[in-house]
Amino acid sequence: MQYCKRCQTVCEDHEHRCPNCKSNKLRKALEDDFVYLQRADVYTAGRLEALLTENEIDCRLEPYGKGRPAPLYDSEVMPTDKSVFVPFKDLADARDLAAALHREMEADAPEEEEFEDMPRRKRIIVQAVSAIAFILLVVLAVFAADAAAGWLKSLFGIG
Ligand SMILES: [Zn+2]
Repeated sequence: MQYCKRCQTVCEDHEHRCPNCKSNKLRKALEDDFVYLQRADVYTAGRLEALLTENEIDCRLEPYGKGRPAPLYDSEVMPTDKSVFVPFKDLADARDLAAALHREMEADAPEEEEFEDMPRRKRIIVQAVSAIAFILLVVLAVFAADAAAGWLKSLFGIG
């Protein structure tokens, strides 16, 4: 495998340029080279880090894009996203662990949606109640203004 120093990814030996960043500064990948594993949101990155550490795989988290502006058109990318790096020698194991974690998190996902359903319903009720309260307030204000106008008129003897 070859290693791209610029973007820290590995590619096949026959490549002349990094398939990721097109850099031609490739060299043979060494065991301790930190290699890009994947992008992950903060939560996933934290779980992945814990899982890798548990399996005695060293890992590094860096802000995704390393200071480069995140592509704004990509709604999938959050500014808090992390890039996860692992040593080249552990890359295959780390990939397996990451895949297992993603399967596990996907299995958890439907449950989370059910939980999210409740606040959503609650939010609609709150919105409806505040809309009604607003209308009542407007009606009250109109009546109050009317009463005040009537009182002022009587005060000055008009009408
Ligand atoms: Zn590269």
